[in-house]
Amino acid sequence: MSHIAVIGAGISGVTTAYALARQGFQVTVIDRLRYPAMETSFANGGQLSACNAEVWNSRSTIMKGLKWMLRKDAPLLFNPRPSWHKYSWMAQFMRAISGYETNTIETVKLAITARENLFQWAKDEQIDFDLEQRGILHIYHTAYGFESGKRVSQLLQRGGLERRTVTNEEIHQIEPTLQGTYYGGFFTPSDATGDIHKYTRGLARACEQRGVRFLQDTEVLGVRCGPPHQIQLRTGTGTDAQTHSLQVDSLVVCAGVGSRHLAKLLGDYINIYPVKGYSISAYLDTPESQAAAPWVSLLDEEAKIVTSRLGNDRLRVAGTAEYNGENKDIRADRIAPLVNWTRRNFHDAATDRVVPWAGLRPMMPDMMPRVQAGSRPGVYYNTGHGHLGWTLSAATAQIITELIVQRTREAEPLRSATTAAATAAPAAAHSARPADTHSPDPVHRESHGPRPV
Ligand SMILES: Cc1cc2nc3c(=O)[nH]c(=O)nc-3n(C[C@H](O)[C@H](O)[C@H](O)COP(=O)(O)OP(=O)(O)OC[C@H]3O[C@@H](n4cnc5c(N)ncnc54)[C@H](O)[C@@H]3O)c2cc1C
Repeated sequence: MSHIAVIGAGISGVTTAYALARQGFQVTVIDRLRYPAMETSFANGGQLSACNAEVWNSRSTIMKGLKWMLRKDAPLLFNPRPSWHKYSWMAQFMRAISGYETNTIETVKLAITARENLFQWAKDEQIDFDLEQRGILHIYHTAYGFESGKRVSQLLQRGGLERRTVTNEEIHQIEPTLQGTYYGGFFTPSDATGDIHKYTRGLARACEQRGVRFLQDTEVLGVRCGPPHQIQLRTGTGTDAQTHSLQVDSLVVCAGVGSRHLAKLLGDYINIYPVKGYSISAYLDTPESQAAAPWVSLLDEEAKIVTSRLGNDRLRVAGTAEYNGENKDIRADRIAPLVNWTRRNFHDAATDRVVPWAGLRPMMPDMMPRVQAGSRPGVYYNTGHGHLGWTLSAATAQIITELIVQRTREAEPLRSATTAAATAAPAAAHSARPADTHSPDPVHRESHGPRPV
């Protein structure tokens, strides 16, 4: 049985481990943090939103972004300080504008497949994650925004998603607690919400029951490529830290914003930028407060704010895209717009007990996750899901698993022959790059191709 290491125990890593374990692989998950789902998969917006599949690569996003740079409470914050990573990413973002339609349609298709898998796995493993299947309501304040929303609906429809137009009156019928008057909106009844942290932890437990081993508190420092691969690890911190290694046949990088560095170590180029976002979890402690908060998930298109009701007593509100490097500071001036928005739209929902959080979206310039083989045999990626990791992960985990199954089958005769030869004359360990760089991709191959370090 092939032994596969999955690097990263966020939603991408845990869904990957689960899909691999279901195929009978021996799986070890490695994460530098003490528990699964402690980084970006901790307190996100909660939306399983095929309706939010529109990629951001468009001229209108750039124009809005420039205007937002002048507003203090804008949903986008760009630190102009020079950084090669940030500006090279931006240049690639602009080049990806030509892929806007294709990538939006591909994303919506992935999202539809993903939710089927995600719901099925939760059912199979009896995971309670505050799932609400009440749809997602996009609300628009202006005619301009609403008209561009109509064009997005056409693209979503081409990807197989029905999203219907609704009037101000219908908006208030769908979500009676919402205050304010709107130009119009769109409703996607098939979308849902849930707690990413609870789901990931529940699925991690199911993985363990299927024999998956979790090495938590363990950082990947380097990899001596084979196969078999030797992964250099450090467990613990400070004077307690211990280095050791793990030998595996294959590995899958699912390390969120850490994937770019790991890819570099493995001779590949995965240009993920950390795009910071914020959330608040408002605790609804009284019956009045619970009755005043929405159950239907909302997406306020102009404020770029999303909501999810997580059980009776929690309302999650999330937003902001901050381009400021790998920085997880929780800024009070970014949390205030989320609290103010909640107060404005839901007067009687309490905001006296609010837990703020910030996380880094692992964002590719073209907004498409990288689900592909690396340049070295037995190296794979399932990463770069950006603003939609919760929505897409259960599809991309399945795609990467199918690719690994296929590659493992193809490698079997080769491996038997190599083992026979090795019995005759033991081979020296090597880290040379085999000729494996031209594989077909299930989703996307980095346009710059693999690059030696
Ligand atoms: C404010 C906000 C709101 C969002 N809202 C939504 C939403 O409503 N719907 C949606 O679909 N998505 C949303 N997202 C995006 C989604 O949360 C992310 O795409 C997703 O959580 C990324 O998961 P991941 O597993 O790829 O990364 P992570 O959850 O960050 O996991 C990566 C793991 O890799 C580990 N790691 C990294 N490097 C190493 C190393 N060298 N050694 C060992 N371990 C390592 C880290 O410790 C971490 O645990 C939102 C994101 C933010 C920030």
